Amino acid sequence: MATALIAHDDCYDHVTPPGHPEQVARLDAVLGALKDMDLVRVAAPMAAEADLLRIHPQEHVDAVRAAAPSEGWRSLDADTHMSVGSLAAAYRAAGANVRAVDMVLGGEVQNAFAAVRPPGHHAERTTPMGFCLFGSVSIAAKHALDHHGLKRVAIVDFDVHHGNGTQDLCEDDARILFCSTHQMPLYPGTGHAHEDGAYGNVLNVPLPDGAGSKAFRDAMERLVLPAVDAFKPELLLISAGFDAHADDPLAGMRLVEDDFAWVTEQLCDLADRHCQGRVVSTLEGGYDLEALAASTAAHVQVLKERGA
Ligand SMILES: [Zn+2]
Repeated sequence: MATALIAHDDCYDHVTPPGHPEQVARLDAVLGALKDMDLVRVAAPMAAEADLLRIHPQEHVDAVRAAAPSEGWRSLDADTHMSVGSLAAAYRAAGANVRAVDMVLGGEVQNAFAAVRPPGHHAERTTPMGFCLFGSVSIAAKHALDHHGLKRVAIVDFDVHHGNGTQDLCEDDARILFCSTHQMPLYPGTGHAHEDGAYGNVLNVPLPDGAGSKAFRDAMERLVLPAVDAFKPELLLISAGFDAHADDPLAGMRLVEDDFAWVTEQLCDLADRHCQGRVVSTLEGGYDLEALAASTAAHVQVLKERGA
């Protein structure tokens, strides 16, 4: 089979204020890094309202829609801003995740990468935050469960920040295993090991500033990979943030591209064992443009090789 790359030009129209790390140029870096790869290129659809309502109450969807400015920016908090094009971009980001699940579960491709922004893993049930408006990876998980009838979906989040939104959206659903490695202390401040979900279905693995490759790989091998293995998911979702890279300006976990390739290989091994190799990955953070490009290329190259 093949690997899908799902993106949309609307994601360029989510413009953040000057100097903001979650900038339009990130998408150029990511898509530029993938431009010569043989991937099945698909335009992301807009998410349907019903897709968003699987995880967010109507009041959240209505509030985000109402917050969209007709010019300039509207700030939802100190970090999270909407421009004129942000609403469409967020609908594309969620829609890309839904389409990715449909393509992978429908057997059109082996795996998929959604190159979208804004990211999603900080968006809580009723709170947009941390550059995120809708919980795209959680929407993918619930779509796989509720629409496609899967019984177990695992989400692995190796973004350097805790996926507090994904935890908030999924911790009370025993059909979802959510695993997050992240630097602590760091934004958003959640993700302690004792936060383990209503059914023991959340695994938080905080790592210290400067952790580095060995500590990251040890934590994956000792905690995350065995948890996913034991859960036996039917689909594996990845919140692929690349801000744990050594060059990233927002954090200090000191990983390198090869660590992202390594973890992708490990996750594909588990997907081969339990999910017929089915993996959907979505872009979260990553704020040094060169490191983001190189890390994304390393990650998607593994998906492509494993999907071939
Ligand atoms: Zn992050």
